[in-house]
Amino acid sequence: MDLHAFESVCPETEERKLGNVEAYQDFLVDNGIYHRYFRIDSAGTGPDVCVEGREMLMFCSNNYLGLSSHPDVIRAASTELERHGLGPGGSRCLCGNISVLGDLEAKTAELMGTEDAITFPTGYMANLAIFKGLLDPFLSPATPYRKGKAVVLCDEYNHATVFDGIALSSAKRVLLRHNDMDDLQAKLEKYRDASPKMVVTEGVWSLDGELSPLPEVVELAEKYDAILMVDDAHGVGIMGQRGGGTVQHYGLEGRVDVIMGSFDKALGGMGGFIAGKKKIIDYLRVSARPYMFSSSVQGVTAGGMIEAMDKCMTAPEFRERVYANARRLVNGLRDLGFTVWGDGTVPVAPLIIGDELTAFAFSNRIFELGVFAPPFRYPAVPLGTARIRVTPMATHTDEHIDRALSILEQAGREMGLIGKTSVPELESDVAPA
Ligand code: PMP
Repeated sequence: MDLHAFESVCPETEERKLGNVEAYQDFLVDNGIYHRYFRIDSAGTGPDVCVEGREMLMFCSNNYLGLSSHPDVIRAASTELERHGLGPGGSRCLCGNISVLGDLEAKTAELMGTEDAITFPTGYMANLAIFKGLLDPFLSPATPYRKGKAVVLCDEYNHATVFDGIALSSAKRVLLRHNDMDDLQAKLEKYRDASPKMVVTEGVWSLDGELSPLPEVVELAEKYDAILMVDDAHGVGIMGQRGGGTVQHYGLEGRVDVIMGSFDKALGGMGGFIAGKKKIIDYLRVSARPYMFSSSVQGVTAGGMIEAMDKCMTAPEFRERVYANARRLVNGLRDLGFTVWGDGTVPVAPLIIGDELTAFAFSNRIFELGVFAPPFRYPAVPLGTARIRVTPMATHTDEHIDRALSILEQAGREMGLIGKTSVPELESDVAPA
């Protein structure tokens, strides 16, 4: 479908107050692409969930390792809830620096193999903090102020939160073709004299089921003296021998300046962090605006996350299980004739549908049949590559996966989708915003 068709609606409405907003809302609803927010009536992250009153198979949660409801994690969280109460009482810089947050940051640094880490209530806030914090040096008479001098070289598929973070800084944003090392080299050459300059990529591209070629990115960043930041929201917990993420997976510890991670995916909780050298992290504590001007992570979350990270480092069986489940799912879907992207290194099954409306219809049909997995469409993914990210968890049994496969097969056959996906040749103007 032509999502740009909305542009033709605009001129008629721009005179009215909020006219364009209302017109766009009508456009989304009339075209059947208004996102549906499903009500979950049970625990939200288990393999069996109750959605809007119906028992369903959960295949869209990022709770990869199933730690969200692990009894030890819940016990550890409850202890901190009893100890600290619900909220931290304000910003850490003034009134809410509860002791468990120091333990959380020490444990995060241990997991990530870095000197230190700083935590935020969400990964989004970590990404909002990092670019302004590192690229617009602290505005004070005592420090050099170099507003507008920085350049950020940013993979075109980076997450929306990275784009928002860059927008808060004064840095110039330069888009890189996805995972294209020739393009990275060419742009680093072009901006050779820019200082500071930063390269930002993701460790795991969960919507595509693949990794970044981090060893090459590291080589190039080092060669051109660029700061390297990796958003490893989807890599932490599932990649690396001890769950330390994609940097650990490649054995690149110490060669990535800052790693951003999220507690709310494989670790099953809530929050985000930036891990790196102690001096850089200490600096962020007095310059990262989302850290200074907002409340901190809650003690209850910190307690749960410390336990989840311990499990992650000491119990590889959670990772082994999710990878075994991913293999069963991806092989099953491919055997049925679906198009599933991915190279097997990442435990997700991005089932490519192509057209936005068809993806919505397919997702609605599998919902009717009992699988919960909403679609991703432009601008979250490039136009014409709408998809269902079918996500296994360590807590799925073979029976859950086989049941999901037979539902996906039934819907795929009814809609003539099996073996028929047509995905356009990608160009940068259809890349995610
Ligand atoms: N980066 C990536 C790659 C993500 O997928 C997400 C969450 N979807 C975030 C950052 C933001 O993390 P959080 O959900 O913890 O705010």
